[in-house]
Amino acid sequence: MADLQIHQFMCLSDNFGVLAHDPASGNTASIDAPEAEPVRKALAEKGWKLTHILVTHHHADHTQGIAALKAETGCKVIGPKGEAQKIPTLDSALGGGDTLTFGGHKVQVIDTPGHTAGHITYFIPDQKVAFVGDTLFAIGCGRVIEGNPQMMWESLSRLAKLPGDTMIYCGHEYTLSNARFALTIEPENAALKVRAAEVETLRAAGKPTCPTRLDQEMAVNPFLRPQAPAIRKRLGLEGAADWQVFAEIRERKNKG
Ligand code: ZN
Ligand code: FE
Repeated sequence: MADLQIHQFMCLSDNFGVLAHDPASGNTASIDAPEAEPVRKALAEKGWKLTHILVTHHHADHTQGIAALKAETGCKVIGPKGEAQKIPTLDSALGGGDTLTFGGHKVQVIDTPGHTAGHITYFIPDQKVAFVGDTLFAIGCGRVIEGNPQMMWESLSRLAKLPGDTMIYCGHEYTLSNARFALTIEPENAALKVRAAEVETLRAAGKPTCPTRLDQEMAVNPFLRPQAPAIRKRLGLEGAADWQVFAEIRERKNKG
């Protein structure tokens, strides 16, 4: 079984487009479809033919390219069961615990609600890759729009249990502002300081900061670190539940 080839590129102002290609079967999946034209261009550059779109959630900046791409290619559109009404182009609606086969690879669906009520993540165990949409970002996480902080924390906790060497592909290039914010929450974190400096350099050179590795995020991402004593102390939440610490960090980021 051949490894998937993954190609990431920019769409809109700060959305990531991602194509996953299985050379054995010739199948190619677009993770979300923020915009049709950059996806078309990426497919042409690679010489790949679109066969699937894997949708993480219903927001327009993840779905507005679907209709055109589906009409042109006849690709199969797979997306969240909980948002099927909001994504009229779906051929198949899946939820947590469901699996699908892409080429020879098994893809596990994980429920990650909070940013939207039905948001899902796609995890491919044999490739150690996860497509997390707007749930987890590099050094950050999505805004809690349709859910509540406790729900979002549970979703992030589910992702935190994946293998540490899982590569995380996220929906947006928000890492620079995330890094600067994270330093206000945990300025004593040495790994965060190193990563923040690296992110400043990458962004100054116009380079992407994603994908990121889960073990790296566990070390630097304040939204995955509500247990950290220094964070709890700074927020005055020493005795609080993890989700309450998470909620306070999210609240501060919203205001920032
Ligand atoms: Zn979104
Ligand atoms: Fe988004």
